[in-house]
Amino acid sequence: MTAPAHVHHAETEPLISLDDARALMLEGVEPLPVEDVALDDALGRVLAGSISSRLTLPPWDNSAMDGFAVLAADVAGATSATPTVLAVVGEAAAGRVAEGAVAPGTAMRILTGAPVPAGADAVVPVEQTDAPPGVADLPSRVAILEAVAAGAHIRRAGGDLRLTQPLLAAGTELSPATLAAAAAGGYGTLHVHRRPALAVLVTGDELVAPGQPLGPAQIPDSNSVGLVALARATGAQARSIGVARDSLEDVVLKLREAVAWADVVVVSGGVSVGAHDVVKGAFERIGRIDLWRVAVQPGKPVVFGRAARPSGAGEALFFGLPGNPVSSQVTFELFVRPVLRRLAGHPDVIGREIVRARLAQPIRKAPNRRAFLRVRLAEEGSGWRAELAGGQESHILSALAAADGLAIVPEDVDDLPAGAEVEVIRLR
Ligand code: AMP
Ligand code: MG
Repeated sequence: MTAPAHVHHAETEPLISLDDARALMLEGVEPLPVEDVALDDALGRVLAGSISSRLTLPPWDNSAMDGFAVLAADVAGATSATPTVLAVVGEAAAGRVAEGAVAPGTAMRILTGAPVPAGADAVVPVEQTDAPPGVADLPSRVAILEAVAAGAHIRRAGGDLRLTQPLLAAGTELSPATLAAAAAGGYGTLHVHRRPALAVLVTGDELVAPGQPLGPAQIPDSNSVGLVALARATGAQARSIGVARDSLEDVVLKLREAVAWADVVVVSGGVSVGAHDVVKGAFERIGRIDLWRVAVQPGKPVVFGRAARPSGAGEALFFGLPGNPVSSQVTFELFVRPVLRRLAGHPDVIGREIVRARLAQPIRKAPNRRAFLRVRLAEEGSGWRAELAGGQESHILSALAAADGLAIVPEDVDDLPAGAEVEVIRLR
């Protein structure tokens, strides 16, 4: 396949807007196939179809308290000065059906969650009786010290869920609470989209594994760590496939390996116009390039392309992100994350809250590019204030680490005074 004409043009070529770039990247991208997954493995997955409750829950009326199951009419006159004394005829405990029934003049000891025995219509908490709280032998009689209304302290059958009632909508990202609700509704497994498989390849002769001693002219490879973590935080199954040298052959070799299993391959570094920037050439060897250079700051030299899978199973998507650590993470947020969310089945590919905030400092930016400033949000009155989280150059990882938002400054703005209002993408 031939690459579009814009790919090889020089620095003067107009940049592609963020929105056009994102649309091109998402074109034809569909949610991954559906699989049946145990609830235990489904955290963060996206539900493929709506589900309704398979159960009525609670299945039967049960007690909300430890106490005594009674007839409310029997204890209507009970006070601590004039207790009503009832014969205790048995016990209702969680997990079994009590034998017998509560008749007028009698009570049954009952524990939280136990089915309400036949005949009883209210529960008197143990604290409103003369029975000792806690572990004790079953008394033969109990003095009730307070009246209760019919229905008191009884959790009704179906109070939580009714058979066939809608439980979770298609597209729900499974959280601890929604997974627990699915379990309560009678599900042991759920139909969810497969997780995107993502490979991270970093390029650069200067890179050394994190934690290793540095030789002359070497720096730690922080992008592998940051990009794999970002992908995992976005719900992908991600792993680093190592460091490629700044050689076309090495990058091509490692890309070919990655395309065999990954839905998405993210490469960092080597996407600019330097003598050793080999990533675009490597993409063209194994696939085609759809776009290069987007009007954003940081992260202008983003490359996107696709390659047919060797197995014939669809296409792998490639992202070439700039090597500067802040640029790689910000462009992942802007471009890779929406694609991963689409693959994972999210109806909303962005999935971020955007708030309006006032800038604490004046800012300057490059013209004709949409800027994403690393900021910290603080509450100010009923709104938000955005303070620069540190230096805004694209190698200042410490500022990204201190930030909880990306302030958006539009293409047609070159500078803003302190106090100007901006939109901020909340990162956490
Ligand atoms: P490049 O995009 O390859 O020109 O790299 C731009 C800058 O990012 C250079 O200063 C690189 O040393 C740095 N860089 C590239 N890759 C990484 C990485 N994996 N971890 C940390 N810094 C990197
Ligand atoms: Mg490089």
